[in-house]
Parts: sequence; structure tokens; C-alpha cells
Amino acid sequence: MKILATDLDRTLLPNGEWPADPGAIDLFNSLTRSNDVLLVYVTGRSLALTEKAIAEFGVRYPDVLCGDVGTTIRKYKDGAWVPDDGWNAHVRRSSPRWDASAVRDAVADVDGLREQEREHLNPFKQSYYADHARRDDILTAVDERVKGQFDEVAIYSFDPQDGKGLLDFLPNSATKQTALEYVADEYGQERGDVVFCGDSGNDIFPLTAGFCGVLVRNADEQLVENIKKARRLAPELKIYHAKGQSDGLSGYYTSGVIEGAFHYGVFKAQETAV
Ligand SMILES: [Mg+2]
Repeated sequence: MKILATDLDRTLLPNGEWPADPGAIDLFNSLTRSNDVLLVYVTGRSLALTEKAIAEFGVRYPDVLCGDVGTTIRKYKDGAWVPDDGWNAHVRRSSPRWDASAVRDAVADVDGLREQEREHLNPFKQSYYADHARRDDILTAVDERVKGQFDEVAIYSFDPQDGKGLLDFLPNSATKQTALEYVADEYGQERGDVVFCGDSGNDIFPLTAGFCGVLVRNADEQLVENIKKARRLAPELKIYHAKGQSDGLSGYYTSGVIEGAFHYGVFKAQETAV
């Protein structure tokens, strides 16, 4: 068995400005079932928003969902989601000073931050909308109040769809990278037997953690630059950049995930495109 892990928005899901191959999602669903693959979604989406994506785009249910930017892990078994309680205990043990309400109090007076709605928060995720034009001042103010006190990481990202800056505070042991590492360990898989596909922002962490990385063709420029930098420091990093294949798959989104999975031998038998 190999683990195929993928980000959702604009990686597996064709919800960006590039053209999508019409048969790609059906092909992905059938290839992940006909090959011996444990499918993991690693996403910023909550469970509810992941369910919405599954219904809207027709992607299959994963075996494991690392949701809420890695702060929650759930397994999908016999048609139901089962939370991974071991993960919660692992995070509490690994980040003993993490305290979401203390982080909340510490940044309460920072101008330009607005707490996100309740559905985007959880005990391991304290998230804000940030005024993107003032991000440098905001991040300096945040650093002064928080840095190093709560076993936290602060991850800033920019959503180009709606122009919003997003700031997530997470325990340093509960990110997209550490969640996927935990899943790999749980299933007894070496890092080199895990493929991770991404397109932007915080995908840099799992892409440079020793997994087999895939950039979909539409990966954003900043991520491509960051990968180049990381490779100069660690030339052994395995990163495949999808470019489109002669069989008609474009390399964008789902097609790029399929191309990457073939590249690393996760998918073996080529099926007829549907
Ligand atoms: Mg994405």
C-alpha cells in the first residue's frame, strides 16, 4: 500500500482560473480504487466544507481527512467519520503550552485582525481575517505578543479568490505536515512511500518534509519559488512538477494529481480515460 495525500482547493478540486479536464475526477476516483492506495485529504477545509466539496465536485470520500489545516484527523469507515482521538492526545502531549484562549487574549488588541466565524475555529485552531495591506505591521505586533509562548505556529496566507488575508494560530505539532507525518506513522509507511500534492501557501511544509512532492501545473509562483529555494538547501528533496501528458491530461488540478501519482508509481495500470 502507498499513501496518496492531496490538498483540495485548486489541487484536487478544479476551482481556480485554469481549464479543468472534464473526465479527470472520475478517472481519479477509479484509479484510487483500483490501485492499493490509502487516500488522504490534507486541507484547510472543515469537515462540513469538505463534505460540501465532495458533493459539489464528485470527488470520492478519502480514507483519512486531515482537516482544518491539519488540526483535526478523521477516518472514513463504513460511511461514517471517526475522529482520531490519538491525534488529539498526541498534540496535547507535543505542544503542552498551547492554549487557544490565551492566544486569543494575547492578540485581542492587534489592529487589523478580526476573529473568524466559529465554524473555522477549534481547540487547536485560532483563526483571523487580516487586513492584507497592513500585514507587515500586523505580523510584527502578533510576534511581540505571542511568539514562542504557546508552542504555537502563526501561518499567514492570502486568499486570491476574495482578497482576504488569513492568519491561523495552531499548535506547532498540528499542521498539514505533522498531521500527514502522524498518519504515515500510524500506517507504518516510510516518508518515501507517501506522495503529497499541493498548489500554494502552506503546502510548502509537507512538500519539503521528505515526502514525495507533487506540484500541480497551476501551482502558484510563490510556492514554486519557495520550492526552488528549499531545493538549493536540500537537493535530495523529491518534487515533481506536473506539466501535462501526451494522453490528454493537462496537468492542472486533478490531472496533475493523477500525473504525479503515476510518476511515483502509486498508480500502475493506465486506464482508459472516462
Ligand atoms: Mg490549495
